[in-house]
Amino acid sequence: MPAPTPALPLSLEFFPPKTEAGALKLRQARQQLYALAPQFCSVTYGAGGSTQAGTFATVGEILAEGQDAASHFSCIGAHAAKLRAELQELRDMGVKRLVALRGDLPSGYGISSGQAEQRFQYASDLVAFVREETGAHFHIEVAAYPEMHPQAASPQKDLQAFAAKVRAGADSAITQYFFNADAYFRFVDEARALGVDVPIVPGIMPIMGASQLLRFSDACGAEVPRWIRTRLQALGDDVDGIRAFGLDAVTALCERLIAGGAPGLHFYTMNQSPLVLEVAQRLGLHPSAPAAPTMPAA
Ligand code: FAD
Repeated sequence: MPAPTPALPLSLEFFPPKTEAGALKLRQARQQLYALAPQFCSVTYGAGGSTQAGTFATVGEILAEGQDAASHFSCIGAHAAKLRAELQELRDMGVKRLVALRGDLPSGYGISSGQAEQRFQYASDLVAFVREETGAHFHIEVAAYPEMHPQAASPQKDLQAFAAKVRAGADSAITQYFFNADAYFRFVDEARALGVDVPIVPGIMPIMGASQLLRFSDACGAEVPRWIRTRLQALGDDVDGIRAFGLDAVTALCERLIAGGAPGLHFYTMNQSPLVLEVAQRLGLHPSAPAAPTMPAA
C-alpha cells in the first residue's frame, strides 16, 4: 500500500556512499525513510565533480525505487562542456530536479586558468546556464543562508546574491541548517521584501553527536547556539542523553518553523533514518504517528 502523502512536503538529503557496505546501509535507510512519502530525495555532489559517478548512481537508484530524485550539481572549477554533458546524462536518466550550487573546492584543488571557469563564479551563473541549455526541463533548487554564507561580504549582499539566483531561474530554495528559527523568519521576510516569491524550505540537521555537529557547523558557518553547545558539553559521552536532547531541540525547532508558515522541511539525513523518523513521528508527519488533534471550531 503506498504511504499517504503528508500534508507538509518533506524532502531528504543523502550523500553518495564511498563503499559497498555504505551503499547497502543507505539502501536500508532509504527504504525506512520512504515511509514519510518524501516529495523528493536529493543526493549531494562533491565540488569539482569529485563524486559525480557516485552521485548519479545514487540518484539512479532512488529513481528506480520509484521516488523523485534531485541531483545536486555544482559549477566551481567546471567547464561548460562538462556541465552540458552531465546535464544531458541527468536528462537521459529521467532526472527533473537539480539543486544548483557554486560548491567549494577542497583545499589544494587547483583550477587552471581558462574562459570556461570564469563563466561559473557563482551559483547564479549555473542557474542561468541550466536555463539556457535545458529551458524549463529541470525544477531548480538553490541554497539559502539565513545566518549568512560565511564568505559573504554582508548579510544584505548575501541576500541580494540569493535573489539573483532566483531571478536567474531558480524555482525554490533550501536553507543551510540553523537552530535559530528567528534567523529563518527574518531571512524569509527580507527575501520577500526584495521580491523573492519562491518557497524557502528550511534545512534541518538532526543532532547526532556533539563533535560531529560542532565540526560541521564550523565548516559551513552554521551557528550552534550557546545553550545547545553547553548542554551537549555537559552530556559528554552520554549517547542516550544526547539523542534525547537532540530530538527535543530539533522537534521544537520544526514545530516553530511549521507554526510560522515554513513551506516544507528538508532533512539532512546523513544517510541515517532513526532520528529523522523519530522527529517526523513527533511532528505527526509519519503515517504511523497518532492523528493530530482537531482544533475546535472558532
Ligand atoms: P553562491 O550562491 O554562488 O554563493 C557563494 C558566495 O558568493 C556567497 O558568499 C554569496 O554571497 C557570494 N555571491 C554570490 N553571487 C555574488 C555576486 N554576484 N557578487 C558577489 N558575491 C556573490 N556543497 C557541495 O560541494 N556539494 C553539495 O551537494 C552541496 N549541497 C548543498 C545543499 C544545500 C541546501 C546547501 C545550503 C549547501 C550545499 N553545499 C554543497 C554547500 C555549498 O556548496 C557552499 O555553501 C558553497 O560555499 C556556496 O555554494 P552556493 O551555491 O550557495 O554559492
